[in-house]
Formats: sequence, structure tokens, C-alpha cells
Amino acid sequence: MDIKKIIKTLKGKNLYRQLKTIERAERVYVYIDGKRYINFSSNDYLSLAFDAELNAKHQNCLKKWPAGSGAARLVTGNFSIHEELEKKLAEIKKTEAALLFSCGYMANLGILSSLLGEKDAIFSDELNHASLIDGCRLSKAKVFIYKHRDTNHLKELLKKNRDKFETIAIVTDSVFSMDGDIAPLDELLKLAKDYNAYLIIDDAHATGVIGNSSLDFFNLKPTKRTIIMGTLGKALGTFGAFVASTKEMKEFFTNRARTFIFTTAIPPHIACMTLENLKEIQPRMVRLRKNIYLFSKLTGIKSQTAIFPLIIGDSGEALKISEKLLKKGFIIPAIRPPTVPEGTARLRITIAAGHSEEELRKLAETIKSLI
Ligand SMILES: *Cc1c(COP(=O)(O)O)cnc(C)c1O
Repeated sequence: MDIKKIIKTLKGKNLYRQLKTIERAERVYVYIDGKRYINFSSNDYLSLAFDAELNAKHQNCLKKWPAGSGAARLVTGNFSIHEELEKKLAEIKKTEAALLFSCGYMANLGILSSLLGEKDAIFSDELNHASLIDGCRLSKAKVFIYKHRDTNHLKELLKKNRDKFETIAIVTDSVFSMDGDIAPLDELLKLAKDYNAYLIIDDAHATGVIGNSSLDFFNLKPTKRTIIMGTLGKALGTFGAFVASTKEMKEFFTNRARTFIFTTAIPPHIACMTLENLKEIQPRMVRLRKNIYLFSKLTGIKSQTAIFPLIIGDSGEALKISEKLLKKGFIIPAIRPPTVPEGTARLRITIAAGHSEEELRKLAETIKSLI
């Protein structure tokens, strides 16, 4: 592999990526090179991660719980605070049980690779998150990609192929991470029933945004065939992830998901801090809904979630607009291929509960003047 050449090619195509160094963060602000920017690209939708008051409460967690768990959960890394958090997360998702994972990426790899194997098939939305795609690959199951949110296409694929496989699963983001649109979970659940499939739902951008669970948004209840993956690092403001499903499924993943078994348990103090944050989410969810509604009205970009994609197309052009916004004090990095499909480079604007009305108006005006 010619690494020098790869890097040069990326630069030539405006696809080279670089880290930005944040010196300090507070509420919806980040500080870079001593300058303050309004953050419009964080997944901290409820503005919990950089809240000074909450941070003070978190100090109590640090006093009580260690920074490291010392071992995997199944060895000697399982603390009572992990179980307390799992109980709370199951309650939120209205499932029998929940199981913590180190992060969402690991959870998706673990779910897919343990549940599905060579004799099985996965039906996956074409815009699913990279961790779901990698989970599909790791499982060795046959993968069928259906067109984005297209249940007719999915049905066609199921009809033609269901009988050739043993276990099958339909896999989808509930809120799509780069477009902010919502999967038709009501129809997907019906198809899962009709074709005896599991429905694996990735709630990374749904938890705390369109309800506690994406199923709530559709007035649906979890069933024995639904497996919900939720993350703690986005709206819940800490770090980690979980799978919410039946008790039996929890037992299965505890024994079979390699990304659960062979890794160190999440730090106990993080579990404690997550429980603290969960006490704060309800009023912030209301504020976030108000902000989403207002920003939608101001910009004409329709979104029911915190994600507002501003599709530019060309990667170089998207980079230029992102730099202009940066000069005006807004941090909104350009999202380019391979994160999004070729020719759909964009600014992925995300709205948070902590943005003020004035900040939302200022951004909407600035965008209008630039595009
Ligand atoms: C962020 C994200 C993940 C990964 O979660 P982490 O906890 O950050 O590893 C999985 N799925 C989707 C849709 C995501 O956006």
C-alpha cells in the first residue's frame, strides 16, 4: 500500500481529513486557538456533555466510583452501578432488559456477529451507519441492501429470498445519521412479523431526540423480535452504548457477543454520570423540540430530528462554505465521501437544546447570505 500516494490523492480530491483541537468546551461553545465558536455539529443534542452545573454533580460519581473497572464484566468488572444503569435504560426503552457495551460501534458488531451466521441473511438499508455495515460483514451472513427507506423494495427481496435462509434480520438506523430522516419502523416491524425476522434498530440519533425510543415516536411497543441499540455518547452526554431487548436476548448476548465478552467494562463512574444525566433529559427534550421546529421554519430545511443536512454536492465547495462559516464563528465541518455517498457532500447542521433563539436566527441568516 502506497501510503504517501493515498494521502496525496485524498488532498487532490478535497477528501483529506484533519483533526481540530478543542481547548475547552462549555454548553454549545467550543474554543479553538483561543477563539470561541458556536458548535452546530455536535451530537450532544441535549447539551448535557459540557454543562458546568452537571459537571459538579458528576464529581460525586468520581468520589464514589473508580475511573477504571479493572476487567471485563464477566470476570470481575461488573459493578452494581452497571446493573442499575441497565435497569434504567431498559425502563426508558420499555424492554425487559438492557446490556451495556463499550460503545455503539462495538454493540453493533456484537449484535450482528453473534445473532447471524453463514446460514442466515441480513436485510440492510443502503444508508445504514458504518458500524452496522461492518457488523454485517463480520457476521458472514448473506447481506441484501434495500433502497433507502423503501419498504416495497425490501418486501420484494424478502419474498424472493426468505426461504433460502434460517435466521434473518432487518437492520436500520431509526434516525439516519447524515440525513436526519426517520425509518418507517411501523412498516418494517410488520414485515419483520410477516417474514419471521428480527428487527434491529439503531437508535443512536433517536434516543432523547424523537422520544426516549424511536418506537415511541410510532406509538409502537418493543416485541420479542425487536432489538434496539442505543448510545450514551450522543444525546445522553457521556460514553458507551447498550442493547435493549428481551431477558433471553440479554442472556444470549452476554454469552455470545464477542465485543461484550472480550473487552473491559465501561468505567463505573461513567455509568454513575449517565444515571445523573438521565434525570435531566425531560425538560431538555422539550427545549430541543422547540429549537428543531424554529430552525426548520427559519431555514425551510424540513427535519423532525436534530439533524439538518445542507447538501452542497461538491466536496471542495462544501469545504469552502464550511470555512466561511468558521470565520463567522460557527463550527460546521463539511461531511464528505466516504461518510456520505459520492456527489452529496454536505454541511451537517445539528441543533441542540442549549442553542438560544438568537443563535439559531443568526445561523439561519448567515447560511442564507452564503448560499
Ligand atoms: C455514532 C453512531 C454509532 C456508534 O456509536 P459510538 O458509541 O459513537 O461508537 C452507531 N450507529 C450510529 C447510527 C451512530 O451515529
